[in-house]
Amino acid sequence: MKKNDLFTVTIEDMSEDGAGIGRTDGYTWFVKDTVIGDVVEAGVTKMKKNYGFARLAKIITPSPCRVEPKCPVARQCGGCQLQAMSYEEQLRFKERKIRNNLSRLGGIPADQIPMEPIMGMEDPWRYRNKAQFPFGKNKNGEIITGFYAGRTHAIIEHEDCLLGIEENKEILDIIRNFMKEYKIEPYDETTHTGLVRHALIRKGFATGELMVCLVINGKKLPAAGELAKRLQTVPGMTSISCSVNREKTNVIMGREIINIWGPGYINDRIGEVKYRISPLSFYQVNPVQTKKLYETALEFAGLKGGETVWDLYCGIGTISLFLAQKAGKVYGVEIVPQAIDDARENARLNHMENVEFFVGKAEEVLPEQYEKNHIRADVIVVDPPRKGCDEKCLETIVKMQPERLVYVSCDSATLARDVKYLQEKGYELSRVRGCDMFGQSVHVETAALLINKK
Ligand code: SAH
Repeated sequence: MKKNDLFTVTIEDMSEDGAGIGRTDGYTWFVKDTVIGDVVEAGVTKMKKNYGFARLAKIITPSPCRVEPKCPVARQCGGCQLQAMSYEEQLRFKERKIRNNLSRLGGIPADQIPMEPIMGMEDPWRYRNKAQFPFGKNKNGEIITGFYAGRTHAIIEHEDCLLGIEENKEILDIIRNFMKEYKIEPYDETTHTGLVRHALIRKGFATGELMVCLVINGKKLPAAGELAKRLQTVPGMTSISCSVNREKTNVIMGREIINIWGPGYINDRIGEVKYRISPLSFYQVNPVQTKKLYETALEFAGLKGGETVWDLYCGIGTISLFLAQKAGKVYGVEIVPQAIDDARENARLNHMENVEFFVGKAEEVLPEQYEKNHIRADVIVVDPPRKGCDEKCLETIVKMQPERLVYVSCDSATLARDVKYLQEKGYELSRVRGCDMFGQSVHVETAALLINKK
């Protein structure tokens, strides 16, 4: 077969990134936009020795799991990979993903993984409290905003993402019209010119407070006061700021924040705990599911009161404060200084005196504290970014010998790698539970409990 040839294939499996997988004469095909159970006609796009890629040309027999995508740009946009799959099937896909990774990369036989049922969402739409919209121009030179297409930086014009809040569209319209009127150019990454790169919009679901932060390729936003005035007409508007990012980079936010209007942060609540959130701080995007995830982490931690707990990669102290409700003392470690400012403020806000925070890399702070101050821990909680824990960090955790290690992960592949390491050092995987924070996408959060065998 060669490029553009058409062939018929049954989709029998799904890849990690949500492409359908089918076979013809023992040769494996990856077909984007298909669903497990579909019989489709596909067109060859690229062939390698043992596998190839094809595009969906026609659905011959739709899978029973196939649904009509709600979003008009579901196929073009890089955000959702599973919109054509029923939500029940999405959850099965995510459970399989966690199980496969733990057995393939973690070396645990699939039938011995202590998996508990995944926690799904009641309503897998409009659940995101945060979005970052890139600005650019269309073919007619008009300012547009939306989302990047999969694997590229072409902007798919779309202001009302169905995963996001309804206010996004109104806010983006205000920004776009303001830019047009004041002749403010969107950023062009090919020429590194223009001013407005992205708009970050965040909402506290429990409080209704809204934050807008414009990322600009310059020191200052002209007529910023006028923009602020217009944005204040949106109910709930609380904080308006700019972030300066003048680098040629894919990193969205700059390091510097210029406050335009409001206190520079918004507030939110998860369960009983109040949180203050600044533009640069990490905060989980799905507050409803976050509560379930943190409750699971707390349950896994098995606190009876009086324990010493370390919360590594703590962000604004979200998990730390959850744990502090039950522990004797909680120490948090986080690399972003602004997040630690928020974490300390959050502890004050909640009148929690049994928490202490450190700024720095977990793989540096923990070994340093261990060598110098001989710190100890009954329980350690980690919630690292996608790349997982640094080996130096795991090494120190093992030296500290906590009874329990709760691993919260947004990438089950690196979780599995780290679980393998920890199992070799005397920890046993005792509970695993998925939590769907990102419906319609291939991503899934996992909470795992490892117990010290000694
Ligand atoms: N536990 C928090 C944040 C989890 S996201 C919550 O649930 O909200 C991961 C966090 O790790 C981010 O805040 C990121 O800034 C931080 N981080 C990334 N690399 C780090 C490192 N090497 N050491 C410490 N923190 C790190």
